[in-house]
Amino acid sequence: MSEQCVFCQILNQQAPCYPVHETRYTKTFLDIFPASPGHCLIVTKDHYQDIFEATPEAISMVGHVSTLIAHTVKQELQCDGVGIFQLNGAAAGQTVFHYHMHVIPRNAGEDLAIHSRVSGDPEELRAMAERLSRRAAEMLDGVD
Ligand code: AMP
Ligand code: ZN
Repeated sequence: MSEQCVFCQILNQQAPCYPVHETRYTKTFLDIFPASPGHCLIVTKDHYQDIFEATPEAISMVGHVSTLIAHTVKQELQCDGVGIFQLNGAAAGQTVFHYHMHVIPRNAGEDLAIHSRVSGDPEELRAMAERLSRRAAEMLDGVD
């Protein structure tokens, strides 16, 4: 736990999020500055700054769950593709220093940014989290 870390605050219920899925090792919630609707973040439950600090077990759990979340968004949103990205260090563009994976639904012709400067509409985020969490519960039943 790192007190200034926004993802730790979310994990400790000291900050809100739009939840999608949870396992013993990971939590998945919506990015509040979505690069596209349905942009998910898969974060480790323990605080690791980046890939260089995270344990191989944590990294592999995040990878596993990211794959499952990619299937979930593809099924639910019927998007053309799904981008899975992970940034390490400010020089690589990392902005929240708690290890996480981006899962971003993509459609043909849309721009390929990882970050957006525009915050999502709270009502749309709420509705999206509800759709994806319902679909994840169906598809990932028993994944813990
Ligand atoms: P990165 O730049 O790879 O470190 O990604 C961090 C992501 O976290 C960015 O895409 C931000 O939009 C997103 N973000 C920052 N604060 C929050 C928050 N409180 N809830 C959800 N997503 C957040
Ligand atoms: Zn943290």
